[in-house]
Amino acid sequence: MADINRAIKGTADVLPNESYRWQYIEKVMLSTARLFGYREIRVPVFEHTEVFSRNVGDTTDVVQKEMYTFDDKGGRSITLRPELTAGVARSSIEHGLIYDALPEKVCYIGGCYRYEKPQAGRLREFHQFGMECIGASSPAADYEIIAAANQVLKTIGIEKISLEINSIGCPECRKEYQKALKSYFTDNIDDLCDTCKDRLNRNPMRILDCKSPVCSKLAKNAPKVIDFLCDDCKEHFEGVKSHLDSAGIKYTVNPQIVRGLDYYTRTVFEFVSGDIGAQSTVCGGGRYDGLIGQMGGKDTPALGFGMGIERLLLLLENQKTEIPPEPKCDLYIATMGNAAELKATEISSSLRFDGFEVQTDICSRGLKAQMKFADKIGAKFSMVLGDNELQNNKAVIKNMATGDTSEAALDNISDKLSSLINGMALDSLTDSVLNSK
Ligand code: ATP
Ligand code: MG
Repeated sequence: MADINRAIKGTADVLPNESYRWQYIEKVMLSTARLFGYREIRVPVFEHTEVFSRNVGDTTDVVQKEMYTFDDKGGRSITLRPELTAGVARSSIEHGLIYDALPEKVCYIGGCYRYEKPQAGRLREFHQFGMECIGASSPAADYEIIAAANQVLKTIGIEKISLEINSIGCPECRKEYQKALKSYFTDNIDDLCDTCKDRLNRNPMRILDCKSPVCSKLAKNAPKVIDFLCDDCKEHFEGVKSHLDSAGIKYTVNPQIVRGLDYYTRTVFEFVSGDIGAQSTVCGGGRYDGLIGQMGGKDTPALGFGMGIERLLLLLENQKTEIPPEPKCDLYIATMGNAAELKATEISSSLRFDGFEVQTDICSRGLKAQMKFADKIGAKFSMVLGDNELQNNKAVIKNMATGDTSEAALDNISDKLSSLINGMALDSLTDSVLNSK
């Protein structure tokens, strides 16, 4: 029987002591996207199954093995999104974004669902940040989206991550390539894993993406798509590289990158790191010029990427990347007695409207327990209110880290707290300047 007191396998809770890291990187993601002119889009968590089965590609692992598909009570086949690009493309056709002034640049953060074998960096519910640029075919667009992913990673402080790019051509030049690939793998068919034997007829390029050691060894010597590019695709790829060079973004060309989803054309790319174990790809993306036309929209070139937030967090942890500290409670007001509790309510209410984080006792605990709690939450300052303080209309504000105290009038706590907090900020600035000398 299912243990209903445990989260479902492959899902994870983000606990209160972890959520700040999520909020921080999500903020960097959305604000960096904004610097490139990308606005957020929010699409449903589930779609008609065909949105994914027809567009992600029915020979892909995602569609063949990983989708959460079910019939709803109205008998419709529904799928929890395994990724967001197909949903964003559906939405942009439905709402005519592809007919607006192009390019339409959108970004998103959201949960994705794939029935996979859970392990570090591989979950059944995971989260992606992504960006999609709809209606731009020039290499400058490919550059822009890669640069945005790069800037997100850099701003978060990720080091030791490399960008690998490739071009998988257009449907025209890919025909010749598929032939060459098929003949190469047919010659080596006995060494292929069972899944790849099947892929050989259905979609030989998938074999290049196979994670089994034998197949990936064979894949290393396979014909390279880059040698089969038509003139237009070659020129496009050269253009992307020139832009990256111009911005000083380092990359390597990895002919083995084909990406797991069917809809890609021309540029494909990944950001990979050796610091997250077996799941080394943090971000993957590319151009998908055929997708919107194939979905019934006007032919519209487009491209995008998806970045796995859990993998990024793993990377942050493994690289010991520091992020700005989580804000702490500005003032804890401890109280003794009913009158003090009401006064604390009055003061905290006004302080919160002034923008301070304030906590008071809401568990009717004794003073000692209240102070212990203030300590535990890392409150910057504390203040005790009792009959004396109420009578004198004054209280002592204590710096919890240094023990320094100062007196403040109860009707002037906001100004006092402001100057104390500014003083603290100044002290830590001086400290960091002194330490860096
Ligand atoms: P992989 O080869 O690792 O299975 P993928 O090619 O299936 O990745 P994409 O579909 O390109 O992945 O998704 C983009 C990003 O989303 C990945 O680079 C990764 O960071 C993240 N991602 C994909 N699947 C998972 C998962 N099951 N759990 C956590 N993150 C994932
Ligand atoms: Mg996968």
